[in-house]
Amino acid sequence: MTDQRARPDPEEPPVRLVKCPACGGPSRYHPSNPDRPFCSPRCRQLDLGAWASERFRLPADAPQEPQTPSAAPFQDV
Ligand SMILES: [Zn+2]
Repeated sequence: MTDQRARPDPEEPPVRLVKCPACGGPSRYHPSNPDRPFCSPRCRQLDLGAWASERFRLPADAPQEPQTPSAAPFQDV
């Protein structure tokens, strides 16, 4: 009986490429990347800075979606 499945090594997770939240570029989502999900320490700092400064600002208009019933299409008048 040969039941050989291609099992990934648990000690070495596959490298996943994710989108860097700061620059939108490819980022390695892997333990070897301490800045994940960011692609680089710089992007991590950038995002942290943006997030921190946003805390001091109240959003002018909150991105609240109007609660419209899904059965009500927009009327073009
Ligand atoms: Zn980045």
